[in-house]
Amino acid sequence: CAVAAVVVANRMKARSQKTTARKILLEFQEACDTPLSRLRQVVDAMAVEMHAGLVSEGGSKLKMLPTFVDRLPDGNEKGLYYAVDLGGTNFRVLRVQLGGLEGRVIKQEYEEVAIPPELMLGTSQELFDFIAAELVSFVAREGDDFRLHEGQSREIGFTFSFPVKQTAVNSGTLIHWTKGFKVNDAVGQDVVAALQRGIERRGHKMRIAALVNDTVGTLAGGRYWNNDVMIAVILGTGTNACYVERAENVSKFTGEIPESGQMVINMEWGNFWSSHLPRTFVDELLDNESLNPGEYGFEKMISGMYLGDCVRRVLVKMAQEAGIFGTNVPHKLLEAFSLRTPDMSKMHHDDSSDLKVVAEVLKRVYGIQNTTVGIRKIVVEVCDTLCQRGARLAAAGIVGILKKIGRDGSTANGSVRRNNMFEQGDMNGYHDELPVNYTSDGRTVVAMDGGLYEHYIEFRNYMQEAVVDLLGEGSKNVFIELSKDGSGIGAALLAASHAEHVPSTF
Ligand code: BGC
Ligand code: MG
Repeated sequence: CAVAAVVVANRMKARSQKTTARKILLEFQEACDTPLSRLRQVVDAMAVEMHAGLVSEGGSKLKMLPTFVDRLPDGNEKGLYYAVDLGGTNFRVLRVQLGGLEGRVIKQEYEEVAIPPELMLGTSQELFDFIAAELVSFVAREGDDFRLHEGQSREIGFTFSFPVKQTAVNSGTLIHWTKGFKVNDAVGQDVVAALQRGIERRGHKMRIAALVNDTVGTLAGGRYWNNDVMIAVILGTGTNACYVERAENVSKFTGEIPESGQMVINMEWGNFWSSHLPRTFVDELLDNESLNPGEYGFEKMISGMYLGDCVRRVLVKMAQEAGIFGTNVPHKLLEAFSLRTPDMSKMHHDDSSDLKVVAEVLKRVYGIQNTTVGIRKIVVEVCDTLCQRGARLAAAGIVGILKKIGRDGSTANGSVRRNNMFEQGDMNGYHDELPVNYTSDGRTVVAMDGGLYEHYIEFRNYMQEAVVDLLGEGSKNVFIELSKDGSGIGAALLAASHAEHVPSTF
């Protein structure tokens, strides 16, 4: 009888926990809601802010940075080039042998290492020494296939995935860090000069021919295979977009209008802000405790570095107010960034009837045992809510760009170029995903890269669905294509088009 009473009491407790948690969930879902009407406001705000950011410096939270890239690869690039790519999580070095229109990418090799976390918070010299050391040792392992003629220097493309104020295609100063980096003495420094010094300290000489944001590298890498690529978006640790703008629209640009009449603009859309964004208590807490408070609010709602932590913060509230994980809140749950987005994605993706993946993650990461299926379901819904919000906002961002450049289907406009080389590509995903009867009439391609888009299936699906909903008929001419790791090769391609000489091999 006493045992029965305890069982009944436990069941009642579980039920009331679930009810309170559900209430928190519902309120949160409402706060995160992104109906089409709201998304349309975000689309419009994005287009308006883009315009404002192009007119004057500081005209918008969108930096709209001129990249000095005024021509994109066309397939004629030839020679041996190197690229270094400092992203949010990984560092990569690569070399590529380009054969011009006939040969295209003859050969490429790359190496990738995780960025040692202490370097993200250290000194500029330590960080750039690390990059230089990796580059120099990679170059030293250049096989016979890649050997240069005597006396030729190596031309490097440098992908640097942070906001930079460019002064030329191969120089620029770091505006500030994002994505958990805080190397204070690098801010305001010319990052090319810093890398150059690192290389020289190792007794080597190489020429950094191009300094590019990862979005710009992805755009260049995409355009190499497909003339319809006009926009590049990164959805990874951080998020950002760049696109091809008419140079005459960039009123704040005081330099000469390039011959091409075009200029690639690095939007730094992570810093986009609008009152139409669905901001919640989670966003406020996360922002306050971040390394860059008050900045990059859009990025903090969307990208891989932050999504998992948004989920965690909702779970903390549920643990504190509804006791969903027992009477005590698990200690580790209170630790910022303890829930990583890949684990969030795993839980979200759990299709077992008793949600055993959710149970496994909660146990592995937080030592939480014995959750009921009801509580696990709530956890999945929290993941779903935040994934959906982020994905739909990213979609609105893309549609905002399309609108700004008149390719959202609302006006008859579009490129009517044909790209015959297109099917020769064999190093990235484009050709796999395109319909066989490929014709470039009126098409706009968005080159996409980043682990979030690549690996988080639900995110990708929500995003694509929202783009289609927003564009309606216009979506027929818009293609989002995964351009995996295009940013490194894109930097090498831009190094090729801006090299002082063609480094030729034997
Ligand atoms: C940076 C951008 C970068 C993006 C994606 C953001 O945090 O500010 O420059 O393109 O992450 O890597
Ligand atoms: Mg990257």
